Amino acid sequence: MKNNTLIKQTKEHLHILCTEISERRVGSKGNRKATNYLKSELQKNKWKVEETLLKVMDWKTQGATLSCGQQFFDVFSSPYSLGCSVQGELVPVDTIEKLYKSEITDKIVFLYGKIASEQIMPKNFEFYNPEEHKQIIASIEQKNPKAIICATSRNSALAGGVYPFPLFEDGDFDIPSVYMKDVEGEKLLTCSKPIIKLESKAKRIPETAYNIVARKEGKAQKRIVISAHIDSKIGTQGAIDNATGVTVLLLLSELFNTYNGKYQIELVAFNGEDYYAVSGQMKYIKQNKGRFNDVVLNINIDGVGYIDGLSCISAFNLPDDIQAKLNDIIQNNPNIVIGLPWYQGDHSIFIQNGCPALAISSDWLIRNMESQEVTHTTKDNLSIINFERIPECVIAIKDLINALEEM
Ligand SMILES: [Zn+2]
Repeated sequence: MKNNTLIKQTKEHLHILCTEISERRVGSKGNRKATNYLKSELQKNKWKVEETLLKVMDWKTQGATLSCGQQFFDVFSSPYSLGCSVQGELVPVDTIEKLYKSEITDKIVFLYGKIASEQIMPKNFEFYNPEEHKQIIASIEQKNPKAIICATSRNSALAGGVYPFPLFEDGDFDIPSVYMKDVEGEKLLTCSKPIIKLESKAKRIPETAYNIVARKEGKAQKRIVISAHIDSKIGTQGAIDNATGVTVLLLLSELFNTYNGKYQIELVAFNGEDYYAVSGQMKYIKQNKGRFNDVVLNINIDGVGYIDGLSCISAFNLPDDIQAKLNDIIQNNPNIVIGLPWYQGDHSIFIQNGCPALAISSDWLIRNMESQEVTHTTKDNLSIINFERIPECVIAIKDLINALEEM
């Protein structure tokens, strides 16, 4: 297939995922439309498709208001938080030590400064969860304030390029919360009234979502797993994060529609990479317990196609023979470079289970992970995509799989 055809197909898939369907947050209608679209395309290309039901939480808000006397402040409902309509005394807290000492039961706690400097991992998130985060949650739950107000700055590495970022994004944490900009928080600190009023019109809605796994049998038991998450962050089209990754899966499914090789090929659309409960990932780990040693290689695609710079491949735990094949591929592809190591993606699942893995992304994005203002914001739309990057990645993956067949 010529590159032009691949570029045309890339544009068609991305148009459907980002423009027609648009937001694909876990539990939304758009998310189910996207998994349905992927499923039908994979079936068209003669893959055996498995759809796994996930019980998830969707979430909606009609906004939040905060007032101190006649003064109003700009606040937002924390994603996946319960709503509330409360009034009470405001207790400012800027460090963990202060949190431990403060009397906040039945009051409204205001987290700002140091304690609010990085997003608190969801309480049931297993992959990365600092002790300090667990202690903050445990302490607040034990003291049981009426609600939490958070003032935050910017923290691209953990929260994406959003300002302010929600300090809590956790459907398992039941103290209602809102968040605001740090500069707005400074104004709140000067509020002298004894009682403040907070309302957040948020609600949780039980919903369904699906993981999609497609397979082509191989001559051996061993498998190559190619993965991309299909969900987008709340309120975004998720073009680079990660409609381009899903598009890579779609194009590969067509290129390999008559595959009959040595390894089994498994295409996985994870549902939940940008979701507090990472439901699709947890489900896949459960389903594959004791079977990760079948995985010859995981190739995870997340963040490919950024408008500036080239694509990059980061390698983890590669045995020498696979590394040699990868080196050839990179040498023959002027548009693909070796990437920095990074772990905030689904390749971590495979690395943690001892599998060799590759993460394919955009070099610019990985280099600027700490400061970029693109992912998880409305800027993540098709205007930041270089469509040519996607077929380049697809062809590199195809060449690599063919090269692995010769091992
Ligand atoms: Zn992503």
